[in-house]
Amino acid sequence: MHRQPARAGLLASATLFAAAAAGAARGDWPLHGLDAAETRYSPLTTLTPANVARLAPAWYADLSGISHRAFEATPVVVGGRLYIATPWSVAIAYDARSGRELWRYDPKVPRAIAGKGCCGPVSRGVAVAGGRVFLATFDGRLIALAADSGRLLWTTQTVDTTRDYTVTGAPRVVGRRVLIGNGGAELGVRGYLSAYDTETGQLAWRFYTVPPRPGTRDGAVSDAVLESRAAGTWSGRWWEWGGGGTVWDSMAYDARHDLLYVGVGNGGPWNRQLRSAGRGDNLFLASILALRPRTGEYVWHFQQTPGDEWDYTATQSIILADLKIDGRVRHVLMQAPKNGFFYVLDRISGEFLSGTPYVEVDWATGLDPHSGRPFENPAIRYSENGAPSAQRPGPLGGHNWQPMSYSPATRLAYIPVIHAGFNYVAAGPDYATHPATPNLGLDPLATAVPEDPAIIASARASASGGLLAWDPVARRAAWSVSLPVPWNGGTLVTAGGLVFQGDAQGDLSAYAARSGARLWSLNLGAGIVAPPISYAIGGRQYVAVAVGYGGGLPQVAGALTAAARATAINRLVVLALDGKATLPVVVPPPRVLAPPPATAAPQQVAAGKGLYERRCYHCHGGAVISGGEVADLRYSALLGDARAFAAVVHAGAMADRGMPAFTTLSAEDLEAIRAYVIARANADARTANTH
Ligand code: CA
Repeated sequence: MHRQPARAGLLASATLFAAAAAGAARGDWPLHGLDAAETRYSPLTTLTPANVARLAPAWYADLSGISHRAFEATPVVVGGRLYIATPWSVAIAYDARSGRELWRYDPKVPRAIAGKGCCGPVSRGVAVAGGRVFLATFDGRLIALAADSGRLLWTTQTVDTTRDYTVTGAPRVVGRRVLIGNGGAELGVRGYLSAYDTETGQLAWRFYTVPPRPGTRDGAVSDAVLESRAAGTWSGRWWEWGGGGTVWDSMAYDARHDLLYVGVGNGGPWNRQLRSAGRGDNLFLASILALRPRTGEYVWHFQQTPGDEWDYTATQSIILADLKIDGRVRHVLMQAPKNGFFYVLDRISGEFLSGTPYVEVDWATGLDPHSGRPFENPAIRYSENGAPSAQRPGPLGGHNWQPMSYSPATRLAYIPVIHAGFNYVAAGPDYATHPATPNLGLDPLATAVPEDPAIIASARASASGGLLAWDPVARRAAWSVSLPVPWNGGTLVTAGGLVFQGDAQGDLSAYAARSGARLWSLNLGAGIVAPPISYAIGGRQYVAVAVGYGGGLPQVAGALTAAARATAINRLVVLALDGKATLPVVVPPPRVLAPPPATAAPQQVAAGKGLYERRCYHCHGGAVISGGEVADLRYSALLGDARAFAAVVHAGAMADRGMPAFTTLSAEDLEAIRAYVIARANADARTANTH
């Protein structure tokens, strides 16, 4: 592996992280993953298996006035203040003990761009360093606020707003650099990571993960390595598609070796035949990159899924640890990415140490023990074989963005796992791309959510979620808990011997970290996808979690999350021993499926289905079944009124509520979509399939 020595910046980083480490020891949750290694291992010990039954809400904040979308953020707690980012990228500071709101900064993200994101206008949190709060907004801005007042210090746009970029990840701070990536691989963008100066907001460097159009250069720190290592792994006209490779979530930092680790996402479009003429590994898709945080200089990379065409991102949590492997202490990096293998790499050299299936994996028979390269099942190349590939994991991955945690005490990683497959079917030759719409290169009808309630039920039964305690040295499960819905919350582990996870039904549960015994559980009122955190003030230990269901699976395939508690609320709940707050119970208003009669000709309905499953499903849900956070169109009052329907869908009458104007749809298209939704609503009313 090609390596460069560590340079200046190390000292500033070491100072920053020493301060954060001291804060964590005092009870703060100073960084996104608690520490720069992103362990989410709280050193607090007041809460124990013996007393956790007394855990109860101490305070809560109702944020439903801002949003009722997926609430994914990790709170950050520094010096008695809790900072969080809500959906639509609103930053709020609270007194972490009393719950009193101290300030709020609303960047006023235009609601009409909701469709630019694959998975809702979510935010995974803010970064706090040096008296500043760094907020990355869904529309691509990076903003520095004064931590004491919320006053705006600087703001900069990090993306080309004419493209379908969005930013959902939490920024990270290393020394004088604040780091932020972006999302949109499904929507035709080219991924990169940017570093800005914490004081001035000036761009320090940018690292692109996908080579530029041949014969051009970006003038970026990635130029040389893209030319020497990546360009030769691409074919076709990828730059016209974007290529993908977005850095939309995970990072970690090793201060001792001054190495920043970055997870890189999937190819865009998924279909490699379209993206890269069916050839090549397509570096640096589905890879982990190690960079120097001060300069962005490339140090090493490890590609998990060469030539990805299954949405196998490497953007899942990256955790750093020192593990004794074969009698020798190794400085490792761990990741349970979407492709279903749990990877352990030497984080200094990038050397592959092990990769073991942590969920059912049938796309590869294993990994080369020296290189870590997968031995692919030849049937999986759907874009070349002309045949569908039904495989596990599917695009949800064995693990998605919901963070895992790692305890050096139990030496176990706690992974919110997903057990679900997918049938990949390549698009036909007439495939066309559309703006603000995922362009996967798949056949939209062949891959759509089924409409038949019996087939939906069997699809539901074939998928599940869970909490998996994984031993990265023995390379096997220590214990696991099964959950009925695949899409649940991230995890927290504590030195007190507890693992916390929220689930789709809204239960926050505590498990014994060594045995997996469920010790305590409380319903917080709506499904949970966010990871809990823990902090302490004045000797009292708190657990905090964002509550609000959606994103990813519930949004695109609400039919498969019927058992979730999709109550349309967002709230932040903070719990402590003998907490005295009472959470209000929000009862969703009753709804009756009473559509106008279905009178359209079958051909019009079929045309509408084709349009719906190409343009509408990614927010409103496949087969017109919503997961709860976006309107379920079967119940829409607009269905009986063609003019009102057109005013919303074509003219953008509800743009301020997140419904974009689909100006490229013709009057005929609109009527076909309306006819299809009416037909679906009538069919489900007949079978009482009202979820
Ligand atoms: Ca993706």
